[in-house]
This record gives sequence, structure tokens and C-alpha cells, in this order.
Amino acid sequence: MASTDNESHRRIIGIDIDDVLISTHSKPLNDFYNAKFGTSWKKEDYHSHNLEEVWGGTREEAVDIVNEYLNSQEHDKSPAIEYAKEAITQLAKHNSLVLVTARNQDMEEKTLTILNTHFIGIFNKIYFTNQFVKDSKAEKRSKSSVCKELGVEIFIDDALHNAEDIASVGIPVLLFDQPWNQTDTLPPLITRVHSWKEILKKLS
Ligand SMILES: [Mg+2]
Repeated sequence: MASTDNESHRRIIGIDIDDVLISTHSKPLNDFYNAKFGTSWKKEDYHSHNLEEVWGGTREEAVDIVNEYLNSQEHDKSPAIEYAKEAITQLAKHNSLVLVTARNQDMEEKTLTILNTHFIGIFNKIYFTNQFVKDSKAEKRSKSSVCKELGVEIFIDDALHNAEDIASVGIPVLLFDQPWNQTDTLPPLITRVHSWKEILKKLS
């Protein structure tokens, strides 16, 4: 006989990957860039999520560098964000956790490999929204449309433009504090958080 526990509603929490679960901009990508170009950017220099506004050059050049990084060995050493594993493990007991990333679908294998390094067997699904596709082979989608379709009830992201997009369809967002998402005021439904410990407290 089915237990009522199994039938009870499990809240659907949507989670971003880069700089929420694993460190990207502030560590391996920055190290990759500095090593390649002899620069000395630091985490606090990343005042924008649009990397060309930090590095200079065009959007296309920045996207090319990110794609090169994603396919590099440095990517495969990306550390988990502090306390993410512990918090995620707790949340997975009573919630359904889905990942919605800006990454392209063709990064699936590399993405699963790094996620399995830190978070094996925890997530229910991963959706790639293909934000960086250069051709029309893969469908580019907004995170908000994917979240709506999945019935996501709350989302965790570090990119302000994604947080605004998701909040605009009525889904509350926890914005993981980073140098690139600073702003004087946050729209309704977006709450700034500073750590996975804080997120766990809010969602428990
Ligand atoms: Mg991110």
C-alpha cells in the first residue's frame, strides 16, 4: 500500500549551477583567464555578470573564452561552494531539487561529471537553457519559462538578470550574494542571501 508520506507534496526548488553549487567566475574561470592572458583579476573585480564588461573585448569573445574554459581540465577541478553539499543533502530529503542552468546542452557530460564529483545522486533533473549557443541547433530558452513549466516554487541564482526574469513570472528567488549582483534595490520576490547555511535556514 502506498504511504501517504510518499504522496505528500514535495516542494520543487530550482537551483542554478555556476557560482551557486560550484565556484566558476571567482575561481577556476578567473584563474584560467589570468593564466591565459597574464592578467591579475580578482573576485572583487567582477562587478558585472557580463564578463566582457570586466575583461574588455566583445560579448562574443567573452563567450568563446567561457566555452574554452568549460571544455578545459581546469573546469573539472571546480570546487563546490562552501556548505553547498551539506545544505543540498538536507534539502533533498523533503524537496524535489531541479537544476536550471544557462549552460548549453552540449556541456551535459562535463557538467554531470563535475556535479557527480561533489553532489552524486542528489538532483532530480538538469535543464540546459542554451544561453550561449551560437547557432540555431539548440533551442535557447529563458530560465523563467523552464521554471514555469516545471512548477518551480522557489529558485536560487547568483545572476541578477536571471533572478529578475524568474521573479517576473511570480516565482520567489534567493539571490546568492556576489560582487556581480550588487544593486541598490532588489525587485519584489528577490531576497539576497549570503551563504548556503542561510539558504538552508530559510527553506527548512
Ligand atoms: Mg550562476
